[in-house]
Amino acid sequence: MSANLNPWRSNRPNPAGSVTVEQVSKNYPGAQRGAVVEALQPISLELREADFVSILGPSGCGKSSLLRIIAGLEQPTTGRVLLNGTPVSGPGTDRGMMFQSYSLFPWLTVRDNIGYGLRERGLAPAAQAAIVDSYVAEMGLEGFDRLYPVQLSGGMRQRVAFARALANDPKILLLDEPFGQLDNQTRALMQEFLLGLWERHRKTVLFVTHDIDEAIFLSNRCAVFTARPGAIKSETRIELPYPRHYTVKSGGRFSDYRARLTEEIRAESLKSTQVGPAFLGT
Ligand code: ADP
Ligand code: MG
Repeated sequence: MSANLNPWRSNRPNPAGSVTVEQVSKNYPGAQRGAVVEALQPISLELREADFVSILGPSGCGKSSLLRIIAGLEQPTTGRVLLNGTPVSGPGTDRGMMFQSYSLFPWLTVRDNIGYGLRERGLAPAAQAAIVDSYVAEMGLEGFDRLYPVQLSGGMRQRVAFARALANDPKILLLDEPFGQLDNQTRALMQEFLLGLWERHRKTVLFVTHDIDEAIFLSNRCAVFTARPGAIKSETRIELPYPRHYTVKSGGRFSDYRARLTEEIRAESLKSTQVGPAFLGT
C-alpha cells in the first residue's frame, strides 16, 4: 500500500527528522529522603533523518527514561534534546510514541484509537476519516476497524498502535520495546512489517529492545548502554543492505554482529545483576 494514500502527507511540508541528544543525564529522587537514583549519565546521540537506531542494554539502565525525555514527557537533569535543531520543550505531534503495552484505549474502537491524535488536533471529521481509512488499509485492518482492542489478536493491536502513532505523520518514532508482549512468530512478522513501514514512510526511528537479533535485523545502528547509570558503551553500524529479508538472520555477517553485541551486553548485564563469573561456573 502506498504512503501517498494518506491525504495528510501530501498537504504538508516535510520537516527533517533529526534528533540530537546533547549530554543528557537523568537523576530521580530515591526512596530515602535526599537520596538520588542516577538513571542516566550524560549521553550524546545523533540520529539523522530516516536513521533506524536501536538501543540495547540491561534492565534499569535508563533506556525508557531517555525515550521519555526525547518525547518531552520528562525533563533531563542536565543537557538537552534538539529536534531538527530546535530544543524540545514538551510533547508534540512531531514525535510518535509506542510502548510495550500498546496503550490503546480499550473503550474506543480501532478507528477511534487510530484517529485519536487527529481529533485532539481538531482536524475536520472528513479529513480524519480519510486518514484513518488510509491506515486501516495500510495496516491490513479492513473489516476490523469497528471492533474494540479486546476483540483483536496481539499482532493486530500492535498494528493499530502503529497506525495511531503514525496518524499525525510524525517524522520521528520513539518505540519502547513495542514487541515485548508478542509471541515469537508474531514478533518476527511485526519486525518485517515495521521495516516495510519504515521503508515506505522514511521515519527516523529510535527503538528500544532487549532482543539482539531484532536490533540487528531492523537497525542501521545499534547503541549498547552500560548498566545503570546508563551511558553509551558502543555504537555499531549494521552494514546489511535494505530491504532486508528475514533470511539475513542466518547469514555470516549477522552472526558476527550477534556475537559481538551479545558479548558486550552480557558484560553489562552481569554488572547490573551483580552476579560474578563464579556464580555462573565460568
Ligand atoms: P530501562 O528502560 O532501561 O529499564 P528506566 O529508564 O525505566 O530503565 O529506569 C532507569 C532507572 O531509573 C531505574 O533504576 C528505575 O528504577 C529508575 N526510575 C525510572 N523512572 C523513575 C521515576 N519516575 N522515579 C524514580 N525512579 C525512576
Ligand atoms: Mg524500559
